[in-house]
This record gives sequence, structure tokens and C-alpha cells, in this order.
Amino acid sequence: MSGHCIATRKVLLGLSCKELEEWALLQGQSAYRGRQLHDWLYVKGARSLESITVLPKAWRIELQRKGVTVGRLSELKRVVSVDSTMKLLLGTIDGESVETVGIPTQKRLTICVSSQVGCPMACRFCATGIEGLQRSLWTHEIVDQILSVREAMSRRPTHVVFMGMGEPLLNIDQILASIQCLNEDLGIGQRRITVSTVGVKDALPRLAESAIARLGRAQFTLAVSLHAPNQQLREKLIPTARRYPLESLLTDCQHYLAVTGRRVSFEYILLGKLNDFPQHAEELADRVGGFQSHVNLIAYNPIKGVDFKRPDENRIKAFRDVLERRGIAVTVRSSRGLDQNAACGQLRRQHV
Ligand code: SF4
Repeated sequence: MSGHCIATRKVLLGLSCKELEEWALLQGQSAYRGRQLHDWLYVKGARSLESITVLPKAWRIELQRKGVTVGRLSELKRVVSVDSTMKLLLGTIDGESVETVGIPTQKRLTICVSSQVGCPMACRFCATGIEGLQRSLWTHEIVDQILSVREAMSRRPTHVVFMGMGEPLLNIDQILASIQCLNEDLGIGQRRITVSTVGVKDALPRLAESAIARLGRAQFTLAVSLHAPNQQLREKLIPTARRYPLESLLTDCQHYLAVTGRRVSFEYILLGKLNDFPQHAEELADRVGGFQSHVNLIAYNPIKGVDFKRPDENRIKAFRDVLERRGIAVTVRSSRGLDQNAACGQLRRQHV
């Protein structure tokens, strides 16, 4: 970020300690003020400049007059399910809203964050896809989601997954900037961060190159959503797959592994009597067998107005058994928060 850019910066969340020092100097203050701001933004979770009482009052007033803000989102709605999964609907300054979810276990607090308001990928089974894209999120709006869940759950987040609303690979620069901020300012290691994509043509090579350029190494996990073992079925579920054939996506995954040294993991949403037959599992094993990769199976969460079904437990087990027999590492992800409109995008849909 250039000095000029920092001098005119109006939103402070997302800036590193060094950038805040530089910003404070450009405002005619000492670098120490930048370090104080950093502490209040990321450790104390300040929501407004007004609340940062260690800063001189006259300066706070002047900054407010100039339109400088911390850049926090407002909480519009909160739902907590019986298993303590918490979903927040957060409002942006321009009247948009995004969902974020805190998923606690004894040892972990995983936050599922959104990368866009809505999503243009229009996957048939997804509540977010139905609404289309409003816009991509800025870095501070992504970072805020982690701070908001941390506050709401009074607990330190351990893992972050970019699996909420939006397609992260359509917002690569802001995703990488927020990963850098999570790393350096909030202490969440890259290996505890997962970026999930349904695949965007030409984006994987750019993600690998940009991550190495910005972060030094791409150590976060890349999770590629296949959801079907062949092109024909995949196009039915993910319309954008027409422009990006499964073969090309898998070739790009191999390239990503070669460039970053990180294994790609694959996601597969099981839709009852659609993509969950044993022959689909065999076909999937043919496709991903050479990757020595991990496959995550997710049983579909039914949503209103969309005609897909959740497979029963026997079908899930049969699918998993085929993959295991074929030597593929597989996990069936448990659905958390099923009682509280858990599918991504539903809370926002109700709100809008
Ligand atoms: S599943 Fe993901 S990529 Fe597909 S429409 Fe929903 S949010 Fe977008």
C-alpha cells in the first residue's frame, strides 16, 4: 500500500500495525498513536473512534469530521442453535447485509465467513446463489466478521473458513489482504484458514501467484467444491461449470499443488438420489484418486423453495464406504445448527 493511499484512508480496520503507524504520522501524530490504534482495533475490538479514549479528544473529533471510521459492521440479527452454533447477520454502511457463523467445539471455534454480498455463481442448491450478487466485500468487512463472532461468543477464534456467502476467487485481493490481517493482527495461522471455491476459470493460477507474492507462502487450505463426479451432472448443479470444464479445474488443482506445495481438498455436497449413488462415488474416486487428497462429504441442508433432498444416513454411509474402499481419505462433515436455518444465505434471505 502506498503512502498516498494510506494518507487518504478513511476506514482503519484491516490496516497492519506498520500501516497504522504510517497513517498516524501522515496525520501529524506520533507513530505511537498508530500502535495504540492497532491495540484498540484488534485486541480491544473498538467499534468507534469515539470509544478509543486513549487518543486525544481533539484528534478524535477531527478524524470524525474528516469521515474516518473504524469500519465495524452492525449486528442486525443473531440466532443460536441448540448445539451452540451462532449465526450473525451483519449490516454494512451501504445498507447491505452478510452472514457469518461461529461453530464451536470443545477445542475449536471455527468461523465461516462471507466473501461477497450474495453470489453470482447461482449454484442450484444454494440459498445465496438464488439472490445473485450485490457486491464483493472489502477487507475490513471480512475481518469484522471474525471480530463480531469473537465478541458475540466471548471466545478466541481458532479457525476461519471462507465458505459463507460468495465465491472467494472472485474477490482474491481482499481475501488475501484479510488472510494477512488475520495472520498478523489477530494471530490466526494460515494453516488454520481454508478458502473454498466452486471454481472460477483462470483464478487458481492467480490465487497461487498472488498468495505467494503477498503472504510469502500459500499455506492456507484450498477446498475445491466438486459436488459431481462428471461434467454433465456438475453443469446441472453449478451452471458456471459450463465455462470451466471439470477436466480443466482438476488440471488447475494439480498446478496449484505444484506451485504451492499444498494439497487441495475436495468438497462434495450429497443431494438425495441425485449425486449420491455408489456409481457416483466410484466415478469420483476415479477423478480424485491421483491427488492423494481429502474428500469432505456434506449432507445437504434442505432450504425452502429449492427442490433437493437430504440423503438418508444409509446412502451417506454407502457413498463414504466406496471412497474408503478405493483408498481415498474421506470425512463426513456433520451439519451444525440444522435447527436455525443453517444453510448459508437463509438468514439474509429472510431479512431482505
Ligand atoms: S454454493 Fe457458494 S459459490 Fe455456489 S452460489 Fe452458493 S455461495 Fe455461491
